[in-house]
Amino acid sequence: MSRKTTALMQTALSALHYSGLGALLAPMTRGKGVIFTLHNVRPEPPEAFEPNRILKVTPAFLETAIETVEKAGYDIVSLDEAARRMKSDEPERPFACFTFDDGYRDNRDFAYPIFKARNLPFAIYVPTAYADGEGDLWWFVLETAIRNTDRIEVVLDGALRVFDAGTPEAKDRTFYEIYWPLRNRPESELRATVRKISEAAGYDPATLCRDLIMDWDELRALCADPLVTIGAHTRRHFAIAKLPEDEARAEIAESVARIERELGRPCRHFSFPYGDAGSAGARDFEIVRSLGLETAVTTHKDVLRTRHSAVMTGLPRVSLNGDFQEARYVRAMITGVPFLLFDGARAVLRRIKAARGARGAAALAPAATRPGAASI
Ligand SMILES: [Zn+2]
Repeated sequence: MSRKTTALMQTALSALHYSGLGALLAPMTRGKGVIFTLHNVRPEPPEAFEPNRILKVTPAFLETAIETVEKAGYDIVSLDEAARRMKSDEPERPFACFTFDDGYRDNRDFAYPIFKARNLPFAIYVPTAYADGEGDLWWFVLETAIRNTDRIEVVLDGALRVFDAGTPEAKDRTFYEIYWPLRNRPESELRATVRKISEAAGYDPATLCRDLIMDWDELRALCADPLVTIGAHTRRHFAIAKLPEDEARAEIAESVARIERELGRPCRHFSFPYGDAGSAGARDFEIVRSLGLETAVTTHKDVLRTRHSAVMTGLPRVSLNGDFQEARYVRAMITGVPFLLFDGARAVLRRIKAARGARGAAALAPAATRPGAASI
C-alpha cells in the first residue's frame, strides 16, 4: 500500500469512527466476529526505510487492540471456539481471534505475556521449514539488501532493470517496484531473484530465519500453555495457488503432519501464505477441507459474516497493520463497514473493466484492491 493510499485509508477510517456512522451501522454490518492477522510484535519505532514496518505492531498497540475489542463487547476466543460459533445458529456475543503468521520469536517475547496476563487465547501459524531454521524470509531479505546498497541491478520479466536506492524515499520506491512484479512470478524464480539481489548487495541472509523464527523446542515450550494454538502455514511458505495440485496438497498435508508429530497434538487450523486471491482460491480451500482441517484463513479483508461459514477453509481476516496503530482504526474496522465499501468499489471496478476492457481498468484499480504487502 502506498503512503498516499495509507493516508487516504486512515482518513476514511477516522471519518467512520468520529462521525459515529460506524457505531450506528455496526449491529447490522459487523457480522459474527473477526479474525485479526498479525506478524511481528516489537517495541522499537520503524526506521526511515522499513517497508515491512506494516507487518510490525508495538506491544502497547496490541494491548490497545485487545482493550478496544473487549470494550466493544467482543469475546476473545480460540480458533476452535471461533469455528464452533461460526457454525452455530444460536445468537452469540461477537468474537475476536488474534492470529500471528510465520512463528516470529517476538510473538513469544512480546505478545504472549500480554495474552497470558489477561488469560486470553491466541494462535500462531508456522511454516515447518521455518521452524527447522531453513525458511526463506525473502521479503525481509529484499528489504535488508536494499538498505545495504544505493543501486540495484535486477532482471525482471526478462529485462535488466537498474534501480536507485540512494535515499530512504528511493529505497521505498525501489522496494515496491521489485516486490510487486516478483510476487506475481513463480516462487522459485522470486526467491532466486531476491538471492541474487542480496548477494550483489553483500548481504548474506543465511542466519535470518534462525534469528527471527522460533524453533521446535521453543514452539513446544510455548504451546504447553493451552492459551496457545499452533496452526500450519505450509512447509516452505509458498503461494499455494501457484502450485500444481499434488504439490499444493503435499505442502499443506506435510506441514500439518509435521506439526502434529513435533508438538504431539492435533493440528486443526491452517493459514494460506500471502493469503490473497492470487495465492489461495477455491481449489485450495477444498484441498484443506478434504484434509480434515477445521478452519483455514486467507488475507481477504472482511469480518466473519454468516455466509462465510459455508467455506470454513477460506475465511477472511482483518490485518492489524503497523500503519494503523490507533484504537479508532480498530473500532472502525470491526464495524465491518470498510469492507462492505471495498467490496462495493471492487464491484464497480469490475463493471468498468467489463465496459472498457481489461487494459483500461487495470490503471484504475486502486491500491486498496491489490493484495497488501502485509499479506505475508
Ligand atoms: Zn506468512
